[in-house]
Amino acid sequence: MQVALVTVGDELLDGDTENTNATWLSRQLTDRGVTVTRVLTVPDSEDVIADAVREYSDAFDAVVVTGGLGRTPDDLTMEGVAAAFDRDLVENDLARADIERTLEEIAGDYPDLDVDAAEESLLPEGARPLLNRAGLSPGCVLEDVYVLPGIPSEMKRMFEDVAEEFAGEADSRFVYTDEPEANLIDRLDEVRERFDVKVGCYPDSEAGHNRLKLTASDAAALADAEAWLSEHVSHAE
Ligand code: ATP
Repeated sequence: MQVALVTVGDELLDGDTENTNATWLSRQLTDRGVTVTRVLTVPDSEDVIADAVREYSDAFDAVVVTGGLGRTPDDLTMEGVAAAFDRDLVENDLARADIERTLEEIAGDYPDLDVDAAEESLLPEGARPLLNRAGLSPGCVLEDVYVLPGIPSEMKRMFEDVAEEFAGEADSRFVYTDEPEANLIDRLDEVRERFDVKVGCYPDSEAGHNRLKLTASDAAALADAEAWLSEHVSHAE
């Protein structure tokens, strides 16, 4: 399964907010055997969001979008996703009921909170709502596009509800060596060609070794590649 991530927000592009959602989601998806094919950060612009979602939805099995779900003027993600599929935004009854329930629950703590539940429940027509168990604004699934909140705690909780929908065969193995990177090139080329695996070489200067990462969807090929590479490099102590 190939999945692209789109993280939305001017604050990410400005460097005001570290893009921890992208790293966290990449890890979760990779752990589930999914191949993350793109991580794109886009500004709070309906057109840019729509173009990215349309392109990635066509090219890959799924797209996960985070950020920009509230109803402040800079929150344009739902508009962008709706535009990508030529849909209108419409009130979603399930989302609205959930928002009203949450507002009742928190009314004691936030007596002056002024939220328009109808406005907050707008989702692209035909979308499956994802209720926000850790906040207010709902996410949704439209076609193969999963729209999650920007706030990390809310995003993580909502991802839990859809995690089972992401599954793939990709797996990785690591081999550690103290040989310098430049000396490994021929063997890394060879292991890639022989076993049809993806190969990465990641120097770790603190640990004083190179971490060689092999990735493949074919478990037997991956095991053979690991065995071959282990035999053909000298190992870090
Ligand atoms: P709200 O409903 O509060 O408007 P939202 O889902 O619309 O939330 P944003 O308004 O885009 O999300 O961002 C809310 C906060 O979440 C930001 O101030 C930022 O701290 C954090 N945030 C957004 N995107 C990311 C990200 N990719 N990585 C880490 N934090 C993020």
